[in-house]
Amino acid sequence: MKEERCDILVIGAGPAGACAASIAALTGVKVLLIDRKKVIGAPVRCAEFIPRQLLSELDCKRDFIVQPVKTMKSFLPDNNIVETPAPGLMINRDILDQALAQKAKEAGAVIWTETSAIEYDNGCVMAVKEREQIRIKARVIIGADGPHTRVGRWIGSTNRNLIPAVQAKVHLTEATGSTEVYFDRHFFGGYAWLFPKGDVANVGLGIKRGGSPDNIRKSLYCFLQKLKEQNRITGEVAGYNAGWIPAEAPRKIVKGNIMLVGDAAGHTHPITGAGVSQAVIIGKMAGKWAAEAVKKGDANVLKGYEEEWMDLYGETQERAYKRRELMENSWDHLDKIIKKCWVIFEEYYKD
Ligand SMILES: Cc1cc2nc3c(=O)[nH]c(=O)nc-3n(C[C@H](O)[C@H](O)[C@H](O)COP(=O)(O)OP(=O)(O)OC[C@H]3O[C@@H](n4cnc5c(N)ncnc54)[C@H](O)[C@@H]3O)c2cc1C
Repeated sequence: MKEERCDILVIGAGPAGACAASIAALTGVKVLLIDRKKVIGAPVRCAEFIPRQLLSELDCKRDFIVQPVKTMKSFLPDNNIVETPAPGLMINRDILDQALAQKAKEAGAVIWTETSAIEYDNGCVMAVKEREQIRIKARVIIGADGPHTRVGRWIGSTNRNLIPAVQAKVHLTEATGSTEVYFDRHFFGGYAWLFPKGDVANVGLGIKRGGSPDNIRKSLYCFLQKLKEQNRITGEVAGYNAGWIPAEAPRKIVKGNIMLVGDAAGHTHPITGAGVSQAVIIGKMAGKWAAEAVKKGDANVLKGYEEEWMDLYGETQERAYKRRELMENSWDHLDKIIKKCWVIFEEYYKD
């Protein structure tokens, strides 16, 4: 069997893996970044909104930007609509992921696409690259392999609370500069959204209970019908996609020389479901600590990674997880508790 050695093996070339690989490679260590996809970033499973301030973290080509967004409209269960500032960008997520992978390559990381990590055996990762089995020996392994993380299984740290989401690409009757979020008692533990991209929009829905793909698809179909009746969208659907969103409390994400990041680590915001910012920012952090561990020849250094991400995001994540529990437990009174459970309200931030 073919063998490969590297200092850091990064599994998954989404934003978390690509950013980790970039930062680590810049320090001069040998980084291998693998992804099972043929084309990085495709197919897109994202509503494609990022907050404007994330731009300062994205030191790559900017051709992923489609349009700016100024505000968010929250459609509440009592039929009120609240518009709040939410400066951000609607993007082509596949182009962003490819730009971040390109940066990792320029930093010196080697990238293998169509390469799946299969199992962990005796300190080595067994992978399949274009039907050939390869044994990869790395000093540090970064699991950036998304919500259904296989690397997480190797260290007993997986996502337990995954929310299924479906999304359609539709044509808007009129362009808009706002994202829209819809709460409805039928969308248990989640919400529907309309995020504009010029004359089209990503319209989607994440629901927890009864989350069989069929049930969610039916709910999305009803939501699309409603938007059509309101003359917001035309009837034509340009495509569908679906994915899973982790809604997790913070947990241990390092064991020995293996660490998790991004959706694999449950870093997604448990209320909003947004995860690109955390993937980029904590991805860079993971790359920095992994390189440090390699240089010092000591996997214990990785404890610093757990401390740093918890310092930066622990409180936000804990609060959002608690708010999710409250929301799910009080769903029948959603109109009464929405201010405590949705991020635009002051009450959300009060204990
Ligand atoms: C419908 C939907 C809408 C969303 N909308 C937004 C949004 O508008 N804004 C936002 O900020 N967030 C959004 N999110 C969340 C966001 O997409 C994720 O948080 C983000 O993709 C996390 O990045 P990541 O790098 O951790 O994981 P991913 O982007 O999932 O990347 C993981 C990579 O690992 C690869 N991989 C998996 N297993 C293996 C293996 N065994 N071997 C090799 N490679 C492997 C996959 O091919 C993939 O490329 C949305 C999610 C969904 C599902």
